Amino acid sequence: MAVPKQKKSRAKKRSRRANHDKITLPGMTLCPNCGADTIPHRVCGECGTYKGHEVLEIEEDTIDEEIEEVAG
Ligand SMILES: [Zn+2]
Repeated sequence: MAVPKQKKSRAKKRSRRANHDKITLPGMTLCPNCGADTIPHRVCGECGTYKGHEVLEIEEDTIDEEIEEVAG
């Protein structure tokens, strides 16, 4: 197995990781039901529909309670 001749500097290592290991956003589409940004081929997180069918029930009461817990 090949062995590196010299240690890579911190700058060299960080420069490589900055470009090679960076996180990119997945492609986004608009939900046909509510118009929110969604990941393609996934259920919409805003309205809970997929291909025009309601798949999930989004309870608005729980969202408000979570906001109150964070704020208060
Ligand atoms: Zn939607």
